[in-house]
Amino acid sequence: MEKKKINVTIDGRPYQVGAGQTILETCAQIGIKIPTLCYLKDVSANASCGICVVEVKGAKTLVRSCVTDANEGMEIVTYSPQIHQARKMNLELILANHPKDCLICERNGNCELQDLCALLGIKETSFPRTKPLQELDNTSLALIRDPNKCILCGRCIAVCAQVQSVYAIDFIGRGIKSKVGTYLDLGLGNIACTSCGQCALVCPTAAIVERDHTQEVFAHVYDSNKHVVVQTAPAIRVGIGEAMGMDPGALVTGQMVAALRKLGFDKVFDTQFAADLTIMEEGYELINRIKTGGTLPMVTSCSPGWITFIEHFFPKSLAHLSTCKSPQQMFGAVAKTYYAQKFNIDPRNVVVISIMPCTAKKFECKRPEMNSAFHFWKDKLGLTEQDNFYDVDYVLTTRELAKMFKKTGVDFSHLKAEEFDEPLGISTGAGAIFGATGGVMEAAIRTAYEVVTGKPLPKIDLTAVRGFEGIREAELDLDGTKIKVAVAHTLKNARTLLEQIEEGKSPYAFIEVMTCPGGCLGGGGQPIPTTWAIRQRRADSIYKEDKLHTVRKSHENPAIKAIYEEFLIEPLGHKSHELLHTGYVERGIY
Ligand code: SF4
Ligand code: SF4
Ligand code: SF4
Repeated sequence: MEKKKINVTIDGRPYQVGAGQTILETCAQIGIKIPTLCYLKDVSANASCGICVVEVKGAKTLVRSCVTDANEGMEIVTYSPQIHQARKMNLELILANHPKDCLICERNGNCELQDLCALLGIKETSFPRTKPLQELDNTSLALIRDPNKCILCGRCIAVCAQVQSVYAIDFIGRGIKSKVGTYLDLGLGNIACTSCGQCALVCPTAAIVERDHTQEVFAHVYDSNKHVVVQTAPAIRVGIGEAMGMDPGALVTGQMVAALRKLGFDKVFDTQFAADLTIMEEGYELINRIKTGGTLPMVTSCSPGWITFIEHFFPKSLAHLSTCKSPQQMFGAVAKTYYAQKFNIDPRNVVVISIMPCTAKKFECKRPEMNSAFHFWKDKLGLTEQDNFYDVDYVLTTRELAKMFKKTGVDFSHLKAEEFDEPLGISTGAGAIFGATGGVMEAAIRTAYEVVTGKPLPKIDLTAVRGFEGIREAELDLDGTKIKVAVAHTLKNARTLLEQIEEGKSPYAFIEVMTCPGGCLGGGGQPIPTTWAIRQRRADSIYKEDKLHTVRKSHENPAIKAIYEEFLIEPLGHKSHELLHTGYVERGIY
C-alpha cells in the first residue's frame, strides 16, 4: 500500500512528503540536517537537548522537531537568527556543567558536542555551573562512565532498554542532582549490565567509554622478554579502515596485518582460525545433543554480552548454552598451549592480545575460569597459584587499535597488504562470516551438514539466515532428520527466543544469538558512528571476505586438521574439554 503523502512548506519551498513522520525525519529526507544531541534514529527521541528547534507557522514558540510530526499544510523554517540563538543558548546551558577538557578527552575529534560547538560558533558559555562534580563509575571491567561529561540526552538509557531489554541504567535523582545511574548507584560492574557497550556507541560525548588498555599493550610490545601475539576478530578488518578515516566497511585485511606487524607484535594471528575451531567443537556438540537426546535447542555461546545476559536473567536456561568457549577464548587457550609447545616458547612469556569489536570481551577475558592454559601447564612446569595467568591478557576495541595506529604514525594508504602468520592465522570463509549476525549459524551448517550426511553441501551461501531482520529461521534436512534453526541479534530479540524456550514452545534445535545489532560488526567497540547503513556496508565486506577464501568450510581448514592431528586428537575429546569448553554461573538480577 502506498504511503499517504502530505504537502508541507520547508524554508519557503513546497514539498510532498510521507505522512506520519517528525519534522526532523521529514527534513532529513529532503536533505536538511537539523542538529540534535539526543535524537537517535529508530530508538530515542526524548527532546531533552533542545537543539533541534525549528519555527512552525502559527506556533507560539519554537518547536522541537524530533518530537513534532509534520502535518498537512505545515510551514516550517529550519534556520533563522532566532533559531540559531535558541540553539546556541540551549547548548551553552549544557556546556555550563561540562568540564570542557577536550584536549585530554577520550572523544576529542569524534564528539558530537564538540562538533556542535564548532557548528554554532560557541566560544564560551555565559551561564554559571550549577551541578557539583561527580565521581566516575570505575566499577566495570569494560566501561568507564564519567557523569560530568553526561549531557542527559538519554540515548544510552533508550538503547539499553529498547534494543537490549537490559534496563541497567536510568535517570536517577532530581534537579541539579539528576544523572544517569544504576540500581542503588552501585556502578555498572556491580549490577546486571552485560558490558555490551551499545551505550558507549551511541553516547554523543565521552560520558561512557571503553576502559583503555592501550598503554598496557604498548608496554608488552616493547618488552623484549615477552612473545606478544595478536588475534583479530572477523569484524575488525571491516571496521579498522573506517576508524582510520576510510569509507565505512572498507575491507583492509592485508593492510591491517601489515600495520599490526609494524606496531611490533611478534605474530599476527587471526580469530577466524579459532572461529573455525569453534565450529568443529560446536558442530559436533550439536550433532551429539541431537543423537543422544541432549538439551535442545542448543544456543551459541560466542557472544559474551549474551552469556552475561542469560546468566543474569535466565539462569534456568543455562543448560541450553553450548559449552564451547568463544573464539577469542579458544584462541587464547591454544596460543598458550598448542602454539607455545609446538614452537618451544615458555607459555609464561606468551602474551595474547585480542583486537575485538566488542567491549564485553574485556569482561570475558577476566572471568576467573578463563585460565585453562595455566591449568594445562601447572603440573608440567611445577607452577603455583601465584603463577596464575589468563588465556587472553588484554582486549582492545577497534577504536583503541586505531588510537595505537595513529599514535605510531601508521598510514593505511601506504601499507602493502601482508598475510597472517601460520598456523593460527589460517582460516576459512566460514570463520570470516562470524562477524555478521547469522554467520555462526551459516558456518555451523556448512560443517554439520557435511559431517552428518557425508555429502557436499548443495549450496554454500545460506541466504535464509543472512540479513538484519531481528529473528530469522530456516529448516535443514540432515539426511532425513529435519531441524529448525533460528538466528537472533540484540538481546531484546534473544529474550523473545528464551521466553519461548522457558515456556516449552521453542520449535528449534539450534539458535544463534549475537548481542549487538547486526552481530559483531555492530559491536560496542566499533567506530563511532555505527548506523544501520554503515552496518550494511560492513556486512557486505564480510560476505566479500568469505568469497575471497579458497576454503569456505571450517572442517576443510588445513590448520584445523593439523591441530586435531597433532594435539587435540578429536572434537569434544579430553583436551578439547580441558581447553575449549567451559561452564556458566547464575548471577542475580539487580
Ligand atoms: S566530551 Fe566532547 S566536548 Fe566534552 S570534553 Fe570531551 S571532546 Fe570535549
Ligand atoms: S553496556 Fe549494555 S547492558 Fe550495560 S548499560 Fe550499556 S547498553 Fe546497558
Ligand atoms: S551517558 Fe552519554 S548517552 Fe547517556 S545520557 Fe549521558 S551523554 Fe547521553
